[in-house]
Amino acid sequence: MGRLDGKVFVLSAAGQGIGKAVALAAAKEGAQVIATDINADLLKAIEGVDGIKTQVLDVTKSEDVEKFAKSIEKIDILFNCAGFVHDGTLLDCSEEMWDFSFDLNVKSVYRMCSNFVPKFISQGKGGSVINMSSVASSIKGVPNRCVYLATKAAIIGLTKSMAADFVKHKIRFNSVCPGTVDTPSLRERMAAKGDVETAYKAFVARQAMGRLAEPSEIAHLVVYLASDESSFVTGQEFIIDGGWSM
Ligand code: NAD
Repeated sequence: MGRLDGKVFVLSAAGQGIGKAVALAAAKEGAQVIATDINADLLKAIEGVDGIKTQVLDVTKSEDVEKFAKSIEKIDILFNCAGFVHDGTLLDCSEEMWDFSFDLNVKSVYRMCSNFVPKFISQGKGGSVINMSSVASSIKGVPNRCVYLATKAAIIGLTKSMAADFVKHKIRFNSVCPGTVDTPSLRERMAAKGDVETAYKAFVARQAMGRLAEPSEIAHLVVYLASDESSFVTGQEFIIDGGWSM
């Protein structure tokens, strides 16, 4: 028996990295996964996996999110995973980049939740919403992540507010706060620095455990928060950072 048997699990940014690992882990636990991403090519890698249906969705497009939500008959779990890391201090962050980061990282959660929460309420069976934050947020100051930290701190606040507002409807809201996870976008950011080897060593050097996280390690936490095992857990931020913030 799977830990998510019979549950419908909707998520964004399932094309690679943590989202992909979560889609695969949830399907393995028996969920009917609706895996979305802006990138149709990336979704091909999980198409045809038992329990997974894929759908292209850009979470910055309000009309598309509304249409998508209307097309979903039943939902038990929503995982808002999409996000972008802007590299730089306040002085490197243009207004355009500030707006882009808040739109993709925070307003997308507002968009998804404002379309799906009414559905959870009308179903009358509660549900679990998991939002992707980061330990680089209100939890830990990290250099060169100005707007990123601001967006991920906003996710923690938004999650708590929704948890408080909808607790009577038995909808649980929690956020996950990873440290550094070895994903394609992290590799791209290393490549952008010119010398991947040196950039990799710098990322590892700041880790108490002397290594980065694997996406599957974050997926275990998301499956727990999605499952009924966490039925008394809401409004919390879950740090999973190999001790980076201890
Ligand atoms: P990634 O950055 O490698 O992949 C991101 C995915 O999001 C891609 O598949 C991309 O196509 C998709 N995407 C981009 N724009 C989109 C949009 N507008 N609509 C829908 N999908 C879109 O993945 P990752 O590194 O696993 O990061 C996933 C989330 O985890 C992000 O929110 C990120 O901030 C957060 N996070 C990552 C780390 C890390 O170290 N990798 C640490 C903490 C938090």
